[in-house]
Formats: sequence, C-alpha cells, structure tokens
Amino acid sequence: MLTVDEAQARILATVVPMGIESVPLAEAYGRFLAADLTASVDLPPWDNSAMDGYAVRAADTTDGEVVLTLLGTVGAGSVAAGRVEPGAAIGIMTGAPVPAGADAVVIVEDTDGSRAGSVRMRGRARPGQHVRRRGEDVRSGSVVLLAGAKLTPAAVGLASSLGRTSLDVRRRPIVAVLSTGDEVVPPGMALQPGQIWSSNNASLVGQILEAGGVPLDLGNTPDRLEDTIAALARAVEAADVVVTTGGVSVGAFDVVKEAHAAVGATAEFWKVRMKPGKPLAFGRIENGGRSVPLFGLPGNPVSCMVNFAQFVRPWLRTALGDARPFLPVVEAIAGETFDEAPGRARLIRVRLSRDGDRIVAFSTGSQSSGVLTSMVRAHGLLLVGADAPPPRGGDPVRVQILDPSFLDGESAAYGW
Ligand code: AMP
Ligand code: MG
Repeated sequence: MLTVDEAQARILATVVPMGIESVPLAEAYGRFLAADLTASVDLPPWDNSAMDGYAVRAADTTDGEVVLTLLGTVGAGSVAAGRVEPGAAIGIMTGAPVPAGADAVVIVEDTDGSRAGSVRMRGRARPGQHVRRRGEDVRSGSVVLLAGAKLTPAAVGLASSLGRTSLDVRRRPIVAVLSTGDEVVPPGMALQPGQIWSSNNASLVGQILEAGGVPLDLGNTPDRLEDTIAALARAVEAADVVVTTGGVSVGAFDVVKEAHAAVGATAEFWKVRMKPGKPLAFGRIENGGRSVPLFGLPGNPVSCMVNFAQFVRPWLRTALGDARPFLPVVEAIAGETFDEAPGRARLIRVRLSRDGDRIVAFSTGSQSSGVLTSMVRAHGLLLVGADAPPPRGGDPVRVQILDPSFLDGESAAYGW
C-alpha cells in the first residue's frame, strides 16, 4: 500500500506543464501567470496630487494665514501650462500632475476655495504633503507578479495599469470524464431495475472547473472490457487528461485496470492507505507527442471526489503553473471525538464554525463513501494520519478546505 503522500509524489513527478498562450485580460481571471511580470513604467508615472486643493511651494506657507496669487487650475488628464512661482499657487484636482515649482498640495478645506485671482490659506504645508510621488507604488523594471501567481481581479487590474492588454498563461487542460458501470445512467434517462443516476460525472465536471480545467463529459461506459477500451481510446484522442470512475476495485466486473494496459498506457494500480478512496489506477499514454495521464478513480461518489481533490486537482494545478497546487489546510479544533479506526489516513467530512479566533470542526454526518449529502455539507476534510489515534474533542486538528464559504458564516441553505 502507498501513503497518500507517496501516491501524490509519484503522480506529480509525471506532470508536463501545459503550453503557454497569451490571453486578453478579460480571459485571464483565475488563471496563473506563466512568466514573471515586469513593470515597464513607473506607477504613478509622475508626481500627482492625492487631493483636490492647491499646488504650492511649502516654503510660502506659514503657521498663520497667507494669500497666494492664483495662476490657474489643473485637472486630472491635463498638465499645467506654467510653473508655481514664489508667492503663487495653482489649483489642482486629484490625479493631476503636480506643476513644476510646487512641492506640496494644500487641501481645499484649509483655504477659502477661491478659483480666481488669489487664494487664502491657513497652516504650514509640509514639503511632499498630499503628493503621490512618481514610482512610489511600482518602479519601472521591478517584478510585480511572479510566475505562478493567481490572476485575481487586483492582479489583472495592476497589469492593466501597466498598460498590458494581454497576459501569458498556461493553456487550460481538457479533462475527459468517463464513468463506468452497467448500473450507471445519466439523469434524464429512465431507470431500469437496479440502475442509478450518475453523480460522478456531474461532481467531477464541477471539480474540474474549479481546478481550472475544461471538462469534457463523455458519459458512461458499461463494465465490458471492449467497451471500456474503446471509450478510453476516444477519451485519449480528445483530451489532455482522462478521469474515469468506477471499475478499479477487485469486483468481478472491474475492468478499468485491464483497459489501461490494453490501450497502451503504463498501467499502475495502487491501494492507497486512505479512507475513503483506497483503490486508484494511474497510467500514462504517449499519444502523438503528448503524454496523457489516466486517472482511474473509485466509483463511490465521495471516494471519487476525495481522490480527485488529493490527486487530480494537484496534477491539474501543477500543469497550469499554479505556484500553490494544493488545497489550503487550516489548523482547527476537533468539536467532537472522531472515532474512525486507524490503519489508513482518514479524510473526514467536516463543517467548520468560528469560535472567537478558533475554527472548530464538526462531523457532517455519515462518513460512508457513498453518502454525498455529508459531502455537500462539508467545508473540508479533517486529515488524520494513517497511524494517528482518533482525535478527541478539543484536540488540535488539520482540515483541508474544499469550500471556503464558512468564512461567510453559518448557512441554512441545506434542507437537513
Ligand atoms: P465501483 O467502484 O465501480 O465498484 O462502484 C462502487 C460504488 O459506486 C457502487 O455502488 C456503484 O454503483 C457506485 N457508482 C459507480 N459509479 C457511479 C456514478 N457514476 N455515480 C454514482 N455512483 C456510482
Ligand atoms: Mg462499477
């Protein structure tokens, strides 16, 4: 048996990053920068006013009142014609370049607000007061975003303020989803006796989207070796990554492992020391210069999702160039005793709530690998090492975050 870490390390050692493409800013959100972004200009590009007021020479002001000759007014988007001579001021609006000669801005509130002839002001101005200096935010030539940075709205805004219209990111991998099982049919089709509607296609499509991939739902294939081989071969042609569910256990109809070998993939089958989600088939197939990974996830709906989160998501994020390909893990306190037996790493569905500055984890209910409702309610997975004893109420624990919405507070959106 492999540990979760060992299985993850073996899988990540095979990642070949996706190719780089240049995309318009509007398509860059949520993606990862493929190369460092270097500023080509200073920000601000010139000294400018932080306030509406008057550009003055600080030396002309006093602790009392002073009347300065008003030479005109400059707004954002234009440049003052003249300079601020001794004894003079130029009206200035927020964002306008500070005129030559001036070294400070006096805010309107400290003046009589005049716009003609002369202006009266009180108080001594400090040199540099209310002036945003050229380059104080960003210096031309400096690296403002590192390769691997997530392109958040603020990061894309910064790129735009540097004049960029596009950014280099890694291409999104196309991820084929194929469920297996004679009993599995897509919703929308009538059920025959013994059949169930698939959950795995839908939850994997969602997980792929969250990870930044492009899902390609190829539906379901029956538990027959020839059908599985044909479906896998089609998936390899159409996608950069293939994820199947079901058929990797030791049951009489579990043909996915054999199908991996039959399509010419390196076919590895692992028992990972984890609960849920022990069986995992992993293979790679060389196809026209591409190396396509095949993930054979277990069919139980929660095992499938938990495996995706531990193995497929880090693969996708690494291929996308994410500097931090793993789901975040937070320190929390066990809100109750979790008496799942040791022997395998346990990934326990928990909801989180805040208690002062602590985060407390509670079970979401049945931890059976087929119970999706307790996954729906989970903010994360409480991680217990394979040999660790069951956490007792009050023990410090680690929780892998699947859904950060607990930061929004408790939700009553679920019907239980
Ligand atoms: P398997 O891994 O093929 O042995 O399947 C394990 C369990 O997961 C069985 O109860 C299957 O019926 C169920 N299962 C397999 N595939 C799916 C699917 N796509 N959606 C929902 N349940 C599934
Ligand atoms: Mg099956």
